[in-house]
Amino acid sequence: MAACTPLFRDYPYMRACAARITRVEGDSLCLDRTVFYPQGGGQPGDSGVIRLPDGAIRLVVDTQKGASSDEILHILAPGPGHIAPGLLVDAVIDWRRRHRFMRLHTALHLLSAFVPGQISGAQVGDDKGRIDFALDEGAKLDKDSLQFKLNQLVAEDVPVTSEWIDDDELEARPDLIKTFTIRPPKGSGHVRLIRIGALDLQPCGGTHVSATGEIGPLSVARIENKGRHNRRVTVEFADSKISN
Ligand SMILES: [Zn+2]
Repeated sequence: MAACTPLFRDYPYMRACAARITRVEGDSLCLDRTVFYPQGGGQPGDSGVIRLPDGAIRLVVDTQKGASSDEILHILAPGPGHIAPGLLVDAVIDWRRRHRFMRLHTALHLLSAFVPGQISGAQVGDDKGRIDFALDEGAKLDKDSLQFKLNQLVAEDVPVTSEWIDDDELEARPDLIKTFTIRPPKGSGHVRLIRIGALDLQPCGGTHVSATGEIGPLSVARIENKGRHNRRVTVEFADSKISN
């Protein structure tokens, strides 16, 4: 199987790329490089379009990891056009949707920076994101104070950057791992870390905005008890009630 270069990892703002089809499997195709993020780490797979050399445009309805970790499946809706390995295509993501994921995903990092507890799950959607924390018994989370703190960090426009360490360094620093269930992206001996100023540093393979101000105003929609120690915090864009 041919490896796919994940351009979204180093260039999360790249909306389109030229790529060569490496494999076709049913409704899915694999490319030698892509801007499409495959579902993982609580972030949905990208949607968008593939422009074929004969001019046909096919919708990509979802993106998933393939059977091997370095292969990415672009899942197509039925449509016209000739698809075959070797063809050069243009891959274009639905940027509006992806950017919302990037904003919400980064917002969940912010929450995890000041809520005292391990992350036991996270999921980003079109309009809201949720994150589960395992807290000590009796620990309480206050909706208004979480919302105030989040918006304060958004207003501070803190830079979000990435860096790489090798697997051995990560083994030596278990404090970096904040999740029980989401394994950091490993591969070729390196792990990508996401740093939000002095606030947060954790391994993550998702896509993020470059500074917290880009997230925009947030509201904490609710805090739910999900088991004795588990608290689920749901955040949404503060303007979502107006714009949608
Ligand atoms: Zn992340």
